[in-house]
Amino acid sequence: MTDQPSTAGMAVPPPAMRSVPCNLCGSAEVRTIRESTGSGRVVQCRRCGLAYVSPRLAGDPRTQYEVDEYHEKARLATGRPGYTSYAGDRPILYPYFGERAAEIAQVKPGARILEVGAASGYFLEQARAHGMRPDGIEPSKACQRIIRDELGIPVVAGSLEEAAIEPSTYDAVALFQTIEHFADPRGGLQKMARWLKPGGLIMITTPDRGAWFSRLTGKRWFEYKPHEHLYYFDERTITRMLEAVGFERITVRRDVNRYSVAFLYERLQRYYPALAPVIRGLRRITPQRLRALGIPVHYGSMKVTAHRAGLS
Ligand SMILES: [Zn+2]
Repeated sequence: MTDQPSTAGMAVPPPAMRSVPCNLCGSAEVRTIRESTGSGRVVQCRRCGLAYVSPRLAGDPRTQYEVDEYHEKARLATGRPGYTSYAGDRPILYPYFGERAAEIAQVKPGARILEVGAASGYFLEQARAHGMRPDGIEPSKACQRIIRDELGIPVVAGSLEEAAIEPSTYDAVALFQTIEHFADPRGGLQKMARWLKPGGLIMITTPDRGAWFSRLTGKRWFEYKPHEHLYYFDERTITRMLEAVGFERITVRRDVNRYSVAFLYERLQRYYPALAPVIRGLRRITPQRLRALGIPVHYGSMKVTAHRAGLS
């Protein structure tokens, strides 16, 4: 026995949370889409329809992406989730980014292009291969090293919020599955609009709340991850936000990628563990050569392009 008070059984204080108003229209009137799971509640603005997390964890969301292992671990040492295996997904992501780079190069040949949230640089590599001059912004130090030292592509120092970039520097800016992580997407888009030349192109991919998979799964939609996805756009809300910060000629299309059948089984089982017995059964009856087959899937991401107002 000891006189020292025991800490065993003492409740850990709940993390600090803060409520935020709508990032698009400023209203604080919301309806709940999904109750809080400890890292935040998913709500929808009653005035403009934007879905977002509020209250949310009070800390700076960027800190979780600065952890070196974010892109390679499903669960980080901090206990928070990461990206599982970005390198393992290269066979799927690399050709996909090649298609996106080709699209941008067609509109802006030889572009000076900035990618925000560059991960380990697959898109940057493809942008360079398509004749463009890429720079990357990426919070993870490990990824910064890969981009700079292994690929020889410039990394803009600091985060989106801190980056000191001259106005009208870039012909194009790209963000792939990134904007939904921002604490302030409207402020971020405003910055990117300034960094673009008049007529400059922005390409964004992000989960689409209006897409079939979101509608089908309702509040169980796998993209509702309040610990990392703070905003959930649809065609209307992303269009309104882009217009609000000075973009025009906005197009919203389905974002289609090729996935192997084996990959789709693995993801479905991870996101919906209750389906595991069904997936196991399907896996057993799927012939080997069919498992590796890449099939085009639109699982509910949208691809948005727009131009900074001004000359084209
Ligand atoms: Zn609103």
